[in-house]
Order: sequence, then structure tokens, then C-alpha cells
Amino acid sequence: MYSVTKTTTFDAAHMLSDYEGPCGNVHGHTYKVEATLSRPAIKKMLVDFNLLKQVLEKTTAGMDHAFLYDYNSPEEVEIAGLLTDRNKKTYGIGAPTTAEYLAHEVARFLQYEFESCDIKVAVWETPTSRAEVCL
Ligand SMILES: [Zn+2]
Repeated sequence: MYSVTKTTTFDAAHMLSDYEGPCGNVHGHTYKVEATLSRPAIKKMLVDFNLLKQVLEKTTAGMDHAFLYDYNSPEEVEIAGLLTDRNKKTYGIGAPTTAEYLAHEVARFLQYEFESCDIKVAVWETPTSRAEVCL
């Protein structure tokens, strides 16, 4: 199996509205995202690193310096609406904005762009906390 990996970072705010603890408050992270594409056989290269970089950065650009929210959470939707009314950047997903679901969000986009590859995406919320998804 051949694999190529590219890493990027983005900054964002989020909250976990149903979480009992500090992560229930609005707070921010510098997220690190590592995307790995794999295939059992290749011709010369699996994918050009520059193409993977462009797609990964395009995928995370919408989340960068945004308020990430769960559009199934009334509380988070209300806060996102206040921000949107003030022309502030928001990014909604259909799940709590945990590192696991953010990894899934990125992986879905990569799967669309690189449909012949196995996709693995890891997201770090902090230098010691990492979640991963494989599609
Ligand atoms: Zn957090």
C-alpha cells in the first residue's frame, strides 16, 4: 500500500453545547489537519503533493477563522445567527463540532476529490489530543 500525507492548520472557534464542562463554552483552537491518501498500486506517484495541498487548504478555508457550529443544536444555531447578522464567518456541520466530526467533514471533501483513494484524516485540537477517521 502506498500513502501520501499532507498537513495544514487553521484557527477556529467552537463550542459543544451539550457538554458538561469547559468545552461547553465558546473557545478556540489552532486545529492541525493531517490528510493521508492510500492506494495499493500507483504509476510513478499516488498524487502530486501540490494538488493534495491545494485541495486540503481549499477544504479547510471555509472553517478558518470561523465559528464552527452544529446546525442541529438550537443554541449553536442562535449564536451562529447572531454572528452571521454581523457579517462574521460561521461554518455549520450536521453534528457536534468535535475533532472526530471535523475530521469526517474534511475526509468527505477529500473523498469527493480523490475517489480512487482510501482517505484517512486526523485532526488535532491540541498538540496532545488527536481524532482520526478513515473512509
Ligand atoms: Zn474545543
